[in-house]
Amino acid sequence: MSDVATFSTFDPATGQLCHTYPITSDEEVAQSIARASQAAIWWANLSFRKRRAILLKWNALLISRLAEAADLIVAESGKPRSDAELEVAIACEHVAWAARNASFYLRPHHRFPGLLMANMSAHVDRVPFGVVGVIGPWNYPMFTPIGSIAYALAAGNAVIFKPSEFTPGIGIWLAETLTEIVPEHHLLQIVTGAGNVGAALINHGVDKVSFTGSTATAKKVATACVERMIPFLLECGGKDPVLIDSDADLHRAAEHALWSGMANAGQSCIGAERVYVHHDVAERFLEILKERAHEIKAGVNYGAATRPAQIEIITRHVDDALKYGQQVVGDQNSVGERFVEPVIITNVPEDAPSMREETFGPVLLVNSVRDMKEAIAKANDTPFGLAASVWSRRNGEQIASQLHCGMVSINSVFTFAAMGSMPFGGVKDSGMGRIHGPEGLLEFTYPRSVVKPRFHLPLEFTSFKRTLFADKIITTLSRIKHK
Ligand code: NDP
Repeated sequence: MSDVATFSTFDPATGQLCHTYPITSDEEVAQSIARASQAAIWWANLSFRKRRAILLKWNALLISRLAEAADLIVAESGKPRSDAELEVAIACEHVAWAARNASFYLRPHHRFPGLLMANMSAHVDRVPFGVVGVIGPWNYPMFTPIGSIAYALAAGNAVIFKPSEFTPGIGIWLAETLTEIVPEHHLLQIVTGAGNVGAALINHGVDKVSFTGSTATAKKVATACVERMIPFLLECGGKDPVLIDSDADLHRAAEHALWSGMANAGQSCIGAERVYVHHDVAERFLEILKERAHEIKAGVNYGAATRPAQIEIITRHVDDALKYGQQVVGDQNSVGERFVEPVIITNVPEDAPSMREETFGPVLLVNSVRDMKEAIAKANDTPFGLAASVWSRRNGEQIASQLHCGMVSINSVFTFAAMGSMPFGGVKDSGMGRIHGPEGLLEFTYPRSVVKPRFHLPLEFTSFKRTLFADKIITTLSRIKHK
């Protein structure tokens, strides 16, 4: 009998055993890092053109096996197949964008040396860190980690990915497919197990950590990284607001707010949890929202709760919201053992836990406001700052400019997540650093300043032979320049 420790995943919709995986030991994590360090040297020394060709070949393989990837995602996350297929398609969009754009955004940049150093040439290289440890969540088990994996690879790093213990299947598949393209190098490796395996990645010294998950775990990850001076990027949750002005297209606003809050069983870090609607249109908006929500069914339009413990959080928040607010759609009975039907509650006080903590379930809390000034103040009055959605025919940009968060959609929801060019991430308890876009590429490199003389001046500044005349030149030039 094998003495390898294992853990299992279960179909969130039925609770049936899905798959059993080995728990990567501490020693194996260290070995993975050693292998990745070797691969990183080879990879970083390839030209951008060669890296781009390899990543695009990998992407072509991923998209050719979209159905296989979707099957793996459905089995362990419990989401509907069409959602899983969309997730794969968007993930591939990011692999392609990162592969195609790394050479442009990470090329050396020349800098003006300034008057005093006019004889020097100066440029900044973007240097890959080496081995990037990606610690991922279960809600979008392919899309979310690929936002780090693809950008880290395109920037010239090797990657070790620790998927969530609920959804490791798609992560393993990602590594296997890249190995088909580059069999001789360990460019992307997977370590599996619970949180302690993620912690081991940090303890054994990866060169950068990219984490997605809860704020509480993010703080533990950040503390462990700081102790080892490992740079990190944190993508945590949110309590994302939707702001609806009196001039909004109410049908579109209701439809998209509903989708944003309920799609993926509400398990989206950028999903709507709070809605602030102008009181002139609040009644009408709630009517439309209610009508549409009655047409949405758990198990049809979205799947089961992926993480069983989430049901307890959702139950607590629905209880809390109903204690103070008024039921619009659903109630405590909407929260089943595995599936949660849509819940909409109005007039919940701003300081209620259900209004302040991340629910991560298909629950929308809708409050009416006097005007958009009040909506903005309430939207910002949260420890989180991930994303927001603004609905107004005339004032969208003006409202968006006052929101303290990393991403805002005007008259739309979520779409920035599918754009390779747009940075993704938050502020405050929602995290720091960015995946996606040029910022996501820069995140996986550090700047190295390189200078050299174009010609030698008779005045040596950085020498003990510096003369009084040289000192005088420096001070005179400085006086002229800064007066
Ligand atoms: P966690 O933040 O605990 O887990 C995220 C990842 O971190 C997982 O891979 C986890 O491993 C790993 N991990 C756990 N502990 C450590 C550690 N000490 N060092 C390194 N890695 C660690 O999220 P949960 O799955 O427990 O979900 C809890 C809450 O987080 C949810 O209710 C939701 O509010 C929020 N969340 C937010 C997400 C987002 O997209 N921002 C995604 C998922 C959850 P393992 O899974 O094996 O324990």
